Amino acid sequence: MPAPDLDDAVRREDDALAELGKMRCRCCRQVAELDRALTVWRNGQLVFGVCDGCTASQVIVIGTTERGIVVQRAQRALLPVAPRGG
Ligand SMILES: [Zn+2]
Repeated sequence: MPAPDLDDAVRREDDALAELGKMRCRCCRQVAELDRALTVWRNGQLVFGVCDGCTASQVIVIGTTERGIVVQRAQRALLPVAPRGG
């Protein structure tokens, strides 16, 4: 499927899910409730959404560039600073 058709299909699914108060998480691809997700909307269109579960385990950075909205994510990693019992 060419990229524009895929984009249209994703947009149609996003619209259908949004009418039900839901969205598909861009990280884990699970359907989640909109009121339990971090979402970015532009001109009334959902352009990015991530569920609460993924926000707990990911660092999400959202910004804008001259090309549009960009999202970066990274797995949260613990940084041990002192060994146990030490
Ligand atoms: Zn998720």
